[in-house]
Amino acid sequence: MKNFKLIIILLVSLFIFTPTFNAANNNTLATFREKLATYRKEHNQATANANKTKSELNTAKNNVYNNQEEIKTNEKKVEEAKIEIETLNIEIAKKNEDIKKYMNVLQETMGNNIYLEYILDVNNYADLVYRYAIIEQVSAFDKEKITQYEEKIDKNKVLQVELAQRELALESQIAKLEKDIVSLGTEYNKLVEITLDVKEQLDSTQAYIDYLVSIGCKENQDITDCIGKHGDIGFIRPVPYGTVTSNYGPRTNPITGAKGTWHGALDIGGMKEGSNAYSAANGVVGKIIRKSRCGGNMVYVHHNIKGVKYTTAYYHLYQIKVSLGDVVTRNTVVGTVGGGWLTPWDGCSTGTHLHFVIAKGWYGTNCDYNCYISPTLFSQTKAVDPRNYIYFPQKYVWFNGR
Ligand SMILES: [Zn+2]
Repeated sequence: MKNFKLIIILLVSLFIFTPTFNAANNNTLATFREKLATYRKEHNQATANANKTKSELNTAKNNVYNNQEEIKTNEKKVEEAKIEIETLNIEIAKKNEDIKKYMNVLQETMGNNIYLEYILDVNNYADLVYRYAIIEQVSAFDKEKITQYEEKIDKNKVLQVELAQRELALESQIAKLEKDIVSLGTEYNKLVEITLDVKEQLDSTQAYIDYLVSIGCKENQDITDCIGKHGDIGFIRPVPYGTVTSNYGPRTNPITGAKGTWHGALDIGGMKEGSNAYSAANGVVGKIIRKSRCGGNMVYVHHNIKGVKYTTAYYHLYQIKVSLGDVVTRNTVVGTVGGGWLTPWDGCSTGTHLHFVIAKGWYGTNCDYNCYISPTLFSQTKAVDPRNYIYFPQKYVWFNGR
C-alpha cells in the first residue's frame, strides 16, 4: 500500500514536470523563414529611417552653411555701407567748406567799402549782382548735394540696422540648427545601431535556417525533433565492444605486405561477425555500396556536428540495415559486422572487423564535393583520425560500451 502511494506521487509529479510540447509553439523551418522576413522588413525600415535622418542632418548642415555664407555677405554689405557713409561725410564736409568759402567771399565783398564802390559804379554793381547770383546758385547746388548725401547716409544707416537684425536672426537660426544637428546626429547613430542589431539578427537567423536546411530539416518539421535526429554534438563508438586492431596512419598492408601504405581509418575487431554496427552520431545515410570486391558492403552517413559537416563510413559490413536518405540516430544499426567467414566476396579483409572512417565534409549522394570518389581513395585521402573525435584505448586493449 505504501508503494502504491509512492507510485501515485511519482506519476503525478511526472505528469506535472514533464514538459509538454504544444503544436502552436512548434518552431519549424517555416516559422524561422517568417522571422527572417520580419527581420528583413525591420532592417529595411531601420535603414530607411537612418537614411531619412541622414538626409535631414545634411539639410541642417547645408542650412548652417548657407546662413554662414549669408552672414559673410551681409558683413561685407555692412562694411561697404560704412565706407560709403565715410566717403559721403567727407563729401559733405567738403561741400560745407565750399559753401563757407563762397559765403566768406560774399561777406567780404558785401562788408567792405568795395561794396559802396560797387554801388556807385554801375558796371561794378552789375558785376556784384552777377557774382551774388552765381554764389547763391553754387551754394544752392551744394546744399542740394549735401541733402542727397545725407539721405544716402540715412539709407545706409537703415541698411546697417536691417543687416544687423538679419545677422541676429541668422545667428539664432544657426544656434537652433546646430542643436538640431547634434540631436539628429545622436538619432542617426542610434538608428545605425538599430540597423546593425537587426542585421545581426537577420544574419544569425539566415545562418540558422541554412544550418537547418543543411541537416535536412523539412519545412514544417519541428526543429527540436529535426536537430535531435540529424544534428549532433559529437561522435561515439560505432560498436559496443571490441579492440582497435589497426590505427589510423601509415602501416604495412596486411594483404599486400606493402610497407608505409596509408590506413585512413580505425580497424575495430573482436566482435562477433554479424553483430551490430551503429551510426557514430545522428545523421542521414549519404551513400551505400553493396558487395564491393574490396570493402564489402559499405555505408556512409552524413552528420552535422555543431554546424560542421562530417561523413562517417562503415566498411566490410556483412549486412546493410539502412537505406539511402534514412535519418539515423546514434542508436540506429547501419549494418552488421563482416569481413570474416560470412563475407567471402570481400577480398580486402583478413578477418572480422569494422573499418571505421571519419572525414570532414559530406561524401556520397547530396555531397558537397568528390561525389564519386572511390571508397579506397576516400578512406586514404579524406579521412581524419577517429581518435581525434572518439576515445579508444590503445591497440589490442578492449573497450566496453560506446
Ligand atoms: Zn581498415
